[in-house]
Amino acid sequence: MNAQTRPLFDVPLRTQLFIDGRWCMPETRRRLPVVNPSTEDTIVEVEVGGPADVDCAVRAASRAFRAWKQTSGAQRAGFLRAIARGVEAQGEHLAALQSLNNGKPITESRIDVGDVIATFDYYADLADTLDAPEAEIAIPSGDHRAVIRREPTGVVALIVPWNFPMVTTAWKLAPALAAGCTVVLKPSEFTPLPELELAAIIEQAGLPPGVFNVVTGTGAEVGAALTTHPLVSKVSFTGSTAVGEQVMKAAAQSIKGVSLELGGKSSIVVFADADLDLAVDLVTGGAFFNAGQMCSATSRVLVERPLAEALIARLADRVARTVVGDPFASGVQMGPLTNRAQYERVQRFIARGKADGASLVVQGEAPEGAGYFVQPTMFVDLPTDSAIWREEIFGPVLCVRSFDTEDDAIATANDTEFGLVATVVTRDGPRGQRVAGALQAGVVWINSPQLIFPQTSWGGYKKSSIGRELGPFGLAAFQEVKQILSAADPV
Ligand code: NAD
Repeated sequence: MNAQTRPLFDVPLRTQLFIDGRWCMPETRRRLPVVNPSTEDTIVEVEVGGPADVDCAVRAASRAFRAWKQTSGAQRAGFLRAIARGVEAQGEHLAALQSLNNGKPITESRIDVGDVIATFDYYADLADTLDAPEAEIAIPSGDHRAVIRREPTGVVALIVPWNFPMVTTAWKLAPALAAGCTVVLKPSEFTPLPELELAAIIEQAGLPPGVFNVVTGTGAEVGAALTTHPLVSKVSFTGSTAVGEQVMKAAAQSIKGVSLELGGKSSIVVFADADLDLAVDLVTGGAFFNAGQMCSATSRVLVERPLAEALIARLADRVARTVVGDPFASGVQMGPLTNRAQYERVQRFIARGKADGASLVVQGEAPEGAGYFVQPTMFVDLPTDSAIWREEIFGPVLCVRSFDTEDDAIATANDTEFGLVATVVTRDGPRGQRVAGALQAGVVWINSPQLIFPQTSWGGYKKSSIGRELGPFGLAAFQEVKQILSAADPV
């Protein structure tokens, strides 16, 4: 694959915990290697926190909360804008770090950086609106005055995965800070480097000590300690559905609030009237962006039978020609998978697909040599009860089936325990809207790539999510609602 180690960084990388405004060592000295997925070399070792460090960080966040919650929306907006400008100034460095640690092509990492900036700017604007006078609620009583006030939830734990490290963090962190919450962030043990650099930017932005803390480490130790800590009011988690279930159970012991962004098994529905070029772009983009390591991967293609042969032929050609390689090399469309466990999981799914009798149209080779590279793979005519049709693979594996009627397509697309996203490709406008309405998914794109604007919403139905991120929903996830009903002043 000719991937190279990238000694792009002449500044030392951050490897310590960030607690109470200081970079610090964990209580028990342990380190974890962070691996470059393109070469399997260790980039650097980071310090690993444990329950004692979580306790220290949560207590710092709890102390900081008393003053932070009293700040005005405009003051918090100022900090959020300073973070956005800091990310902007360090954009190329952050993008390179993301590609080095996660393996995605540098062009994709730049998109991530742009998303982070847009998210902080959006929540800065929303924070500004929080200073508006409380609106009175119309009630059927002249003797009372009712207002609704929104207050920050408290200390919140943010736990994120490795596929879009900075983005999943920004979608939680920006609204949490905007709302007036204080935060303990746990990055993925596979990709802590972008988050630690983001922490340095946040430090530069001058947030009061304790408002933002980062504890690196494993899910079993740091994650579990955060979800049970008595001073944590809410856990906002993005990751697998299996771990989401554990987080929910752990949080239930102390009735903490949870927001969960979990797995998916999403469909792209292509009708016979679709623009074929557009359909090919949308299918390959939806399945292979970030090497298919997307909760929103539209890895199930449902194509109306008259178009099936043409679409499959075009897809097979495109998939076979995908340029997989060094994320920093120009022209590369797909980097390696992010870690060894994921690489092995994808290989197992490909083997199961073959065993289940699906026709393998393009075989994803795993090239010899270092790095977790897998060529994209495409199956057609899968039985709907096969594992690769039903389970989240989280890798570059595309599964195609044909359908005969609109109802058929909707029923097959909805026949999953997940419900994160879907895409519809058709020239028939009313049909696009009708099908979007019938799909059980939190986001539906019609004839569009997977654009996500911070002003909108993110999250899904069924086992994909609890709650919503982005837009005003993302802010509300970190707010308590308080009603104040006052008897009218006596005249
Ligand atoms: P994961 O569930 O293994 O880990 C996610 C995070 O949880 C990591 O930081 C991990 O250390 C931590 N963790 C692990 N065990 C824990 C525990 N017992 N208690 C608390 N925290 C714990 O997920 P992953 O492999 O990092 O990410 C891939 C998954 O994330 C996929 O299923 C994908 O669909 C999902 N995802 C969802 C969205 C979304 O918006 N819905 C976005 C990105 C990724």
